[in-house]
Amino acid sequence: ALRVPGLAFDNRFARLPDGFFVRVRPAPLPEPWLVAVSDEAAASIGLPAAAFQDPAMVDALAGNRPLAGAEPLAAVYAGHQFGVWAGRLGDGRAILLGEALGPGGARWELQLKGAGRTPFSRGADGRAVLRSSIREFLCSEAMHGLGIPTTRALAIVASDEPVFRETVETAAVLTRMSPSFLRFGSFEYFRHFGQPERLRLLGETLLEQHYPALRDAANPWLALLREVAERTARLVAAWQAVGFCHGVMNTDNMSMLGLTIDYGPFGFLDRFDPNHVCNHSDDLGRYSYAMQPKIAEWNCWCLGDALMPLIGEAGGSVDDAKGALAAFGPAFEAEYARLMRAKLGLATERPGDDALVRATLDLLHAQRIDFTQFFRRLGSVGIEAQDLRELPQARGAGAPAPRPGSRCRDLFVEPALFDAWAARWRARLRDEGSDDPERSRRMDRANPKYVLRNHLAELAIRQARERDPAMVRRLLQVLRRPFDEQPEHEELAALPPDWAARLEVSCSS
Ligand code: AMP
Ligand code: MG
Ligand code: MG
Repeated sequence: ALRVPGLAFDNRFARLPDGFFVRVRPAPLPEPWLVAVSDEAAASIGLPAAAFQDPAMVDALAGNRPLAGAEPLAAVYAGHQFGVWAGRLGDGRAILLGEALGPGGARWELQLKGAGRTPFSRGADGRAVLRSSIREFLCSEAMHGLGIPTTRALAIVASDEPVFRETVETAAVLTRMSPSFLRFGSFEYFRHFGQPERLRLLGETLLEQHYPALRDAANPWLALLREVAERTARLVAAWQAVGFCHGVMNTDNMSMLGLTIDYGPFGFLDRFDPNHVCNHSDDLGRYSYAMQPKIAEWNCWCLGDALMPLIGEAGGSVDDAKGALAAFGPAFEAEYARLMRAKLGLATERPGDDALVRATLDLLHAQRIDFTQFFRRLGSVGIEAQDLRELPQARGAGAPAPRPGSRCRDLFVEPALFDAWAARWRARLRDEGSDDPERSRRMDRANPKYVLRNHLAELAIRQARERDPAMVRRLLQVLRRPFDEQPEHEELAALPPDWAARLEVSCSS
């Protein structure tokens, strides 16, 4: 086994008794090469990025040699897929290595995704293709850069081994990290298959490790349900505010910690369309952008059902569970309103703000305006007219002055519609005595300049297929600071090219 200096494991999940997982071994992957490492993620488990230059480490992450201290296993879970009970699922291609101990007491579970078959592979190959591994790697780290709760990505290794999807692709292994990979579906499994003792033990483990304060609640399971519902509500509010579409919000892809988990056919909105469906396999549009909040709430109800035996034993009723779940709506509304006010540069809360947000989105929809660029450019409205010599100081050191052609108004085919909307918005700002330069700086911290648009991921994928990882690594660096002006990377903030409209992402990964 490979001993990596600085990497220590203490595998609490592997110490659970029978019934929660199956011990497995990663399948070897021939001649792996290192595509990219997130040095930030590495630092959080106490590793320097240089540790990944060692070919032995690349072999370990490809599943070709064991890591000292790791106890590889595949966890069991179930779930509702596209609204339908799907029965037993489980880690079909993700292998939990164990829990790495980071500096300052941090603990991170490490998983190899795409490391071969497990007893839960259900006839599939246990592999992940380079394409989807790059997308998950970049998006995990990009979401973290955006300040949105997410699982993290440590590294990608790739190989020429063929993998058969719609076409022949090649295999890669993503190492991902999370404080816990428990999902709603983990609880649904033990509830559905009538294993109350295991349901309880899983719940107690989760409470002890991740929600210790809730153990003192009158009914800890009601408290847990409410807390997870609120976290999930705030998470989805953050998705809506940044234009992120998850694509497969099945209950097995919903984190018990309220993290974004399982990056498959996700996408960021380009031109604003609330009915956008990013997953080409989602014929009915169940997981469209506009549906995400409702679906998240529905998923929380599934969790409520799964926790009901525990809630009941502790003296709680179905109505109590409904009461806990009722926290979802207000938590979503409050967080969404807060985030949208920040996007519009509003420092205070006023009656009518909701209507202004709706009018903004209606305008973007009617005019098919790029969601990310609109809000980013909006930040500069009102300061363009000022003496250009003052702008660098006004907008923060190093920020380029807005150039003609990069103004918000220029995005509109019918600028008069923008002008009419902007007059209303400016009036609302005047109402709270807003100061343009200060507001502009605030908006630049709320509205990212760089998001992982599909075409950017696609360019990185095409290069990596030719064994050139430069674009993957460049995007990683840029997307970790999505709110900063990065003039040397300006083209990564550009509107998508025409060919981007023809990109399709599906569940196939
Ligand atoms: P997902 O739609 O990505 O959430 O995956 C749903 C289920 O299918 C999970 O149990 C996965 O582990 C499993 N799965 C997806 N792709 C594969 C694959 N290539 N090989 C084995 N299992 C897979
Ligand atoms: Mg999944
Ligand atoms: Mg997946």
